[in-house]
Amino acid sequence: MTGLMQGKRGLIMGLANDKSLAWGIAKRLHEQGAELAFSYQGEALEKRVRPLADSLGSDFLIECDVSNMDALDATFDTLKARWPTIDFIVHAIGFSDKNELRGKFYDTTLDNFTMTMNISAYSLVAVTKRAVEMMPDGGSIVTLTYYGAEKVVPHYNVMGVAKAALEASVKYLANDCGPANIRVNAISAGPIKTLAASGIGDFRYILKWNELNSPLRRNVTIEDVGGAGLYLLSDLASGVTGETHHVDAGYHTIGMKQEDAPDI
Ligand code: NAD
Repeated sequence: MTGLMQGKRGLIMGLANDKSLAWGIAKRLHEQGAELAFSYQGEALEKRVRPLADSLGSDFLIECDVSNMDALDATFDTLKARWPTIDFIVHAIGFSDKNELRGKFYDTTLDNFTMTMNISAYSLVAVTKRAVEMMPDGGSIVTLTYYGAEKVVPHYNVMGVAKAALEASVKYLANDCGPANIRVNAISAGPIKTLAASGIGDFRYILKWNELNSPLRRNVTIEDVGGAGLYLLSDLASGVTGETHHVDAGYHTIGMKQEDAPDI
């Protein structure tokens, strides 16, 4: 099956390197004919993002720190100057002080709580507001979330609270955008070793636990996430909005340790 995204173009936000979930999605979109622009945070990341974008035939890179509303306005102005309309956005952005992604949740500071909420949840709202103006013929927006929004995952702490806000935001945004035929969905990805994930306390244990206890008895890959991203961003998912779609080898369905899982 080819050409699902032929004639569609959109912005990928949150590519850091070739381990990023955004990279898994970008590759699948490109394979299916999408034209891609990329936003990245800060000059240091540009060095990594530019060759990746280049390998997918894109020279359209925009620097954007999503916690800065002026930077977001400028990003969408730059996008609009080259592409008057877009069809999709991938929002693959999250951040918290890694010192607070371990230990007790109640030790979260007010500053880090608001910063984590701002970057990891509010930014989707701010991005969506600006994106809808460029989607006169409808569109699709996908963000990335994690099971720690639904259930307590040790160490995930304030990030879990921010992801819960993100998932609720997806529903409210889906309702706002629905009349314009713009869909908003989240992918709840299982744990994958990325730059962001390396900040989470005991992440290796979380990975092993998921591998041993998910129905598929494995961890997911960025290619698994990419396939789901392609589905949600393409017309295949034309009737799907406000959804949190789990791509976690089925882990979220399981209520206790598997009988065949060894102790770790
Ligand atoms: P990653 O480190 O590759 O990507 C995180 C991205 O967020 C980076 O590109 C970083 O530059 C960007 N970012 C952080 N603060 C920003 C800011 N102020 N402005 C603009 N960009 C900013 O890691 P990833 O795991 O691919 O993370 C992508 C998304 O997937 C995140 O929302 C993360 O929470 C989510 N997610 C990850 C996992 C996992 O296990 N890796 C699981 C479920 C969900």
